[in-house]
Amino acid sequence: MIPGHLRGWTIPMLCAAALACAPAPAVVPSTPGPVADPPPHLLLVTLDGLRWQEVFGGADSLVLRGRADSAELTRAWWRPTREARRAELLPFLWGEVARRGQLIGDREAGGGMRVTNGKYFSYPGYNELLTGRADGRVDSNDKIANPNVTVLEWLARRPGFAGRVVAASSWDAFPWIINTDRSGIPVEAGQDSVIARMAELLPRLWKETRFDLLTHRSALDRLWAGEPPRVLYVALGETDEWAHDGNYGRYLDAARRNDAMIRELYQAFAGHPAVRGNVALIVTVDHGRGDGPLWTDHGRDRPEAGWVWLAALGPGVAARGARTDVRDATLAQVAATAAAALGEDYTVVPAVAGPLPLR
Ligand SMILES: [Zn+2]
Repeated sequence: MIPGHLRGWTIPMLCAAALACAPAPAVVPSTPGPVADPPPHLLLVTLDGLRWQEVFGGADSLVLRGRADSAELTRAWWRPTREARRAELLPFLWGEVARRGQLIGDREAGGGMRVTNGKYFSYPGYNELLTGRADGRVDSNDKIANPNVTVLEWLARRPGFAGRVVAASSWDAFPWIINTDRSGIPVEAGQDSVIARMAELLPRLWKETRFDLLTHRSALDRLWAGEPPRVLYVALGETDEWAHDGNYGRYLDAARRNDAMIRELYQAFAGHPAVRGNVALIVTVDHGRGDGPLWTDHGRDRPEAGWVWLAALGPGVAARGARTDVRDATLAQVAATAAAALGEDYTVVPAVAGPLPLR
């Protein structure tokens, strides 16, 4: 039996998906008199290198064709229409976010969102989307402390945000991208003892990226640990790794599992008694990938990897579905968009891009 103050929480879902049952949230004593409206919160999620082609079209016939596993993947993922294929791949994004929010970047339907750093790989992409501008100095994926201040660090210095901006990541470079040493923003990339132990006991497929489930669980833990963060940034990474491996089935499967993780995180955040639904969701990527048979790779020699996408939901985001009227959005606009979702004006920072028109 669920006590009254926990009704609406998604405990069974959390238990089922996150290896072990999450502890119950702290009991919030009922206070007499009017309850103040909660301030806005933000869940920012990135899915490393997930292409716009799959986000808006589901499984891609140009990739499926000619593969040894084509028949099996076609059976699992192919549907007669684009709409049915994308709903099969990303049921939360197309069932909830598209219905109550919006998605930008459908090139086939005339929309578009592009990377402006010209490099089309991860660190320059995350730097652009988190700081609000491209920086030519960021030119490798090496673990170098970011000289730039991200919107996360800028927010953490604003009133009401101190100690309440947190991150969890699958790729182990994030403590450098966010510059944890300077910003003080914790990035749980394996340091947490339980998560680290699980990581040790799971197969290790990639040198620098762990399974997204561990990052997901780490983010959920943070949501359940007393006072919720104002900003939770979750950087998932499996899609990029499976793509580099050339494994299209696993890449699609990772996208669908990521979609389920986003649903759980969003529902847990929105359902928190101190948040009461006042949370915006922004989902985006650091770069795209090549077209057709070149889908596995990205980088400066693949200009088509410069096309990206964004999904948004929450207060301040109009229910406009897939936008075809937004054609010249850029990845640099994500930072100011994230701040605007929290009622903050990031454009006071010199040279940063303005927010996306989500209203
Ligand atoms: Zn990559």
